Amino acid sequence: MITRSAAELADALAAGETTSVELTRAHLDRIGAVDGTAEEGVHAFLHVDAEGALATAAESDARRAAGEPLHRLDGVPIAVKDVLTTQGMPTTCASRILEGWVPPYDATVVARIRAAGLPILGKTNMDEFAMGSSTEHSAYGPTRNPWSLDRIPGGSGGGSAAAVAAFEAPLAVGTDTGGSIRQPGAVTGTVGVKPTYGSVSRYGLVAMANSLDQAGPVTRTVLDAALLHELIGGHDPLDSTSVDAPATGFVAAAEQGATGDLAGLKVGVITELAGEGWQPGVMSRFQESVDLLAKLGAEVVEVSCPSFVHAMAAYYLVMPAEASSNLAKFDAMRYGLRVVPEGTPSAEEVMKATRDAGFGDEVKRRIIIGTYALSSGYYDAYYGQAQKVRTLISRDFAAAYDQVDVLVSPTSPSTAFPLGEKLDDPLAMYLQDLATIPANLAGVPGISVPAGLAADDGLPVGFQILAPALADDRLYRVGAALEGALTAQWGGPLLGLDKLDARIEGGK
Ligand code: GLN
Repeated sequence: MITRSAAELADALAAGETTSVELTRAHLDRIGAVDGTAEEGVHAFLHVDAEGALATAAESDARRAAGEPLHRLDGVPIAVKDVLTTQGMPTTCASRILEGWVPPYDATVVARIRAAGLPILGKTNMDEFAMGSSTEHSAYGPTRNPWSLDRIPGGSGGGSAAAVAAFEAPLAVGTDTGGSIRQPGAVTGTVGVKPTYGSVSRYGLVAMANSLDQAGPVTRTVLDAALLHELIGGHDPLDSTSVDAPATGFVAAAEQGATGDLAGLKVGVITELAGEGWQPGVMSRFQESVDLLAKLGAEVVEVSCPSFVHAMAAYYLVMPAEASSNLAKFDAMRYGLRVVPEGTPSAEEVMKATRDAGFGDEVKRRIIIGTYALSSGYYDAYYGQAQKVRTLISRDFAAAYDQVDVLVSPTSPSTAFPLGEKLDDPLAMYLQDLATIPANLAGVPGISVPAGLAADDGLPVGFQILAPALADDRLYRVGAALEGALTAQWGGPLLGLDKLDARIEGGK
């Protein structure tokens, strides 16, 4: 049962073949079997709420038995990244500074999940405050990639991606500020979507960088992502940046794409997102997928986005600037940890001791960079310039979308690297997001779809599709078409329980 997609599980529930309690229990058992601890196992979860999930499942079953109207995903379990607030359930952002904090309210995304009746299995691991590309910056120990337990699951949402890849959850929610849904999707062989900025509410999403953050679906199939996107998306009066547009048409687009007809579609391959430094095994799988799209009837052209080469630099000014300001609220007074030095310390000394003990190195690094970039005298030279680059990137996208319907690239320059490999080299870690960051800077949507295993190391490769703002439906159409063609070629999905279990066992 746990190997089925969320859409299949929903069908099984509707057909009375199973119950939500049974499904929820099966996933909790799976978590018990493979999730392990900070030291061993997948370690996708920071908190598992068995009791709460089973209670929600029982309510779902009762609703179904009573013949009440149900959301299609009612009763299908889900995991939520620990950066979204959950009433009554701990929310730590994988930071010591929030240890023990139990939010008094739900994020809008969580409230919608609850309202639709999906049991929440628990909260997934991440890089502290979503800063990183490997989940190694979690204060509670790393998540391990189910494909190879000595490798990273991507980040910052490695927990959500690994949970879905390891069949611990059929669905998960992630957040993507610079690639944290798409890159983990790529390296774990799962599907990850960053919706158009503002189209999924950020209310209750603990902010890293407000102008870049966006929550979105983490799944094993494109159709599942569409289903979840329609559920969590749509206008929210509680988020002042929320776009007043309906989140509809994604499931229909995925179904249309699954027919495998891309006639009339124009696809642009981004020139700047390839070349030296890109893993050959990644590039060859990417090229195969491009060829497949052409076979399905799409017209493929090359498109240059010259400002993309400055995206990383701009991101690493804008993001820390916003993060340094957002993280100022963790002052030992309002939430979580409070460290009180000996004697009669002043409020400032308590804040200092708490922030020193509560934040990890990567978070401190970004607070320092961000504070520096925003300081008077440097503001124009750094933050101001970065904002101008952001405009240039948006213009590149606009010019590209004058010529093509979607843009494509590999999601990440390499497959999953060994744990520890880039921990002491922040720049090498940052480069993982080379291909994903432009979409965040411009607010446009993107998806990562599994493109197969790299020939050089046998690990998953992700194929990124980008669309214009509010044209998220195109991601689902093209993604489902590619997924259909590739799974036909592979003779089934990339992720198989047997294959995976052999790897997880081997890594224990
Ligand atoms: N890896 C990027 C960073 O470290 C992106 C993180 C994210 O999307 N949350 O900032």
